[in-house]
Amino acid sequence: MKLNQIPVRQMKGVSAQKEQELHAFGIHTIADLLDYFPFRYEDYRVRGLAETKSGEKGTVQGTIVGNPILQRYGRAKTRLTCKVAVDGILLTAVWFNRHFLQDQLTPSREIILTGKWEQQRLQLTVSSSEFPDSASARAGTLQPVYSVGGSITQSWIRKIIGLALQQYGAMMEEMLPVSLIDKYKLMPRREAVTRIHQPEDTTEGQAARRRLVYEELFLFQLKLQAYRSLNRKRMDGTAHVVDAESIRVFVRTLPFELTDSQKKVVNEILTDLRQPYCMNRLLQGDVGSGKTVVAAIALFAAVKAGFQGALMVPTEILAEQHLRSLQKLFAAAGLEVGLLTGSMGERKRRDVLAGLQMGLIDVIVGTHAIIQEGVNFRNLSLVVTDEQHRFGVNQRSILRRKGLNPDVLTMTATPIPRTLAITAFGDLDVSTLRERPQGRKPIKTYWVKHGMLDRVLGFIRREVDNGQQAYFICPLIEESEKLDVQNAIDLHIQIQQAFPDMRVGLLHGRLSASEKDETMGAFGRNEIHVLVATTVVEVGVDVPNATLMIVMDAERFGLSQLHQLRGRVGRGAHQSYCVLIADPKSETGRERMKVMTETEDGFEVARRDLELRGPGDFFGTKQSGVPDFKLADMAADFEVLEQAREDAAELTANADFWKEAAYARLREILKQDQLFQGDLLD
Ligand code: ADP
Ligand code: MG
Repeated sequence: MKLNQIPVRQMKGVSAQKEQELHAFGIHTIADLLDYFPFRYEDYRVRGLAETKSGEKGTVQGTIVGNPILQRYGRAKTRLTCKVAVDGILLTAVWFNRHFLQDQLTPSREIILTGKWEQQRLQLTVSSSEFPDSASARAGTLQPVYSVGGSITQSWIRKIIGLALQQYGAMMEEMLPVSLIDKYKLMPRREAVTRIHQPEDTTEGQAARRRLVYEELFLFQLKLQAYRSLNRKRMDGTAHVVDAESIRVFVRTLPFELTDSQKKVVNEILTDLRQPYCMNRLLQGDVGSGKTVVAAIALFAAVKAGFQGALMVPTEILAEQHLRSLQKLFAAAGLEVGLLTGSMGERKRRDVLAGLQMGLIDVIVGTHAIIQEGVNFRNLSLVVTDEQHRFGVNQRSILRRKGLNPDVLTMTATPIPRTLAITAFGDLDVSTLRERPQGRKPIKTYWVKHGMLDRVLGFIRREVDNGQQAYFICPLIEESEKLDVQNAIDLHIQIQQAFPDMRVGLLHGRLSASEKDETMGAFGRNEIHVLVATTVVEVGVDVPNATLMIVMDAERFGLSQLHQLRGRVGRGAHQSYCVLIADPKSETGRERMKVMTETEDGFEVARRDLELRGPGDFFGTKQSGVPDFKLADMAADFEVLEQAREDAAELTANADFWKEAAYARLREILKQDQLFQGDLLD
């Protein structure tokens, strides 16, 4: 029987109700219980009075002198005082609402007191006390402090974990290979788990923590690295035959010269495409850095090699836009581009499906609809996802079930700080577009108060008179009194009334796909001058003639989102502006406006965003792939994380890892992870 197979209910003292409550803390088995680590310790070690600072908590030992005095006040409130001699000083010990102690406080008895020491009044306000002559568990120790709640109290969980250590401690198994334990002089697992719960002193507690933090980060990295290494070894991807000359000819048909960054990234991708392993690459580049054309070249290469490609995007607006730009880019080369979205009519859809199956369509652009059941390809070999954070294991397995194992290129405009890149995306290879196309002027960003709306309107007038266009973003579409946000429809009316001579468009999530498409198309052709919109334009939208981005109630948006919105302008040669309208009451809100006006560098914005929000919230959703570590702290333990990553990469690259008995335990752990779904190992 393994500890992770023994339900916690087996412990004496764990009732059905306690069990339910433990489940809420993620404790189901004995293994979970033993791995329920304290987050700090309370110090009950006895110290001299001289070492205890006035105003702080300390533990001292002394002798009771004289008789206790009990005072009653209020309703059932008591104050008990007694003189105690400690280190030659006569102090007054004070207990509140502990009248039952009165009889035990007998002169000349030894006592251990923990509480707040006030030097001036020679008084110690006792929070806990005990007598050395009665068997006591706490005195002289560091007591672990756990996260608890409900009927699970500190003392109860201490007791139950103590019992579990006694009863099952010997069954704990080592997980880390000897080589790593030796390399970092780590405590063996059994000792570390015992010591983190019951340390003799702080040094021991720290050593135990160090070992367990390393273990946690190493196991996490091992999964990512093993996944990557298996993927490389399996050789079941497509080895595209890419003819360099045909790529060169295609690139020459583009309306601009590629930046050096784009060239470098294209080469990294083409190298992957030629290899028989499955590409699993992340392309990160700030907004406007020109990722679309990189995707187009990759898709072109796949088609030239005789296969089909897909471009997956999060919204239908974006799908339409990419369809148009790919059709333009591929026109000269004669590639057939198709569109597949969820809201498409049945007839059209059937045509597209047939085209894909027969191979009449070379490149399909669409939302998630393109990898769903019922969609069959003739020979899909490359999937590019745009503005999406992750092409998950699930999506891969859907494709694999259809016998497809395409190369995957994930593009993101949210620059990822290094900390997150090696945690969330540790299994991917990363390409980065570091520069933007030449001739772009920095976007000027202003933060204004609501009262300055007139000036903002003047700004719109000026840009439109110059032949440019503007976005006006409002946070929500429906009236919500609670949030007090500007309603998009109201704003649309308001702006149209302010500018009767202009065409003001409205775009929000409630419109039908064809209405959205029509509006976006008109905006793209400069038939609409001002586009009032919700965040549906947040990602990817590319209208280079738009030079003004106005965001209403900007404090309601996250930093990365604001940066994304700002990235909708500054895409052409004209000077662009971003105006953030906000009266933030919160510190975070003001901080965000400050960051936005201070920097235009997406990597810097991302770094500050991470600082303000913490890694868990960084991507806004749980698909971020950033795990909740039990013990490790992404910031504080970052060096350990990097070390663990190196160790895991080295280990999984070594053939021994996949066969030697010494690593059987680790392979076992991998097999249990859904990332491997059983079919990748053995
Ligand atoms: P993003 O990285 O934000 O997706 P896009 O791919 O939409 O950026 O490109 C932004 C704009 O820059 C587009 O209008 C595109 O045509 C243009 N562009 C891309 N690469 C270059 C280049 N090398 N030189 C000039 N303009 C470019
Ligand atoms: Mg884009």
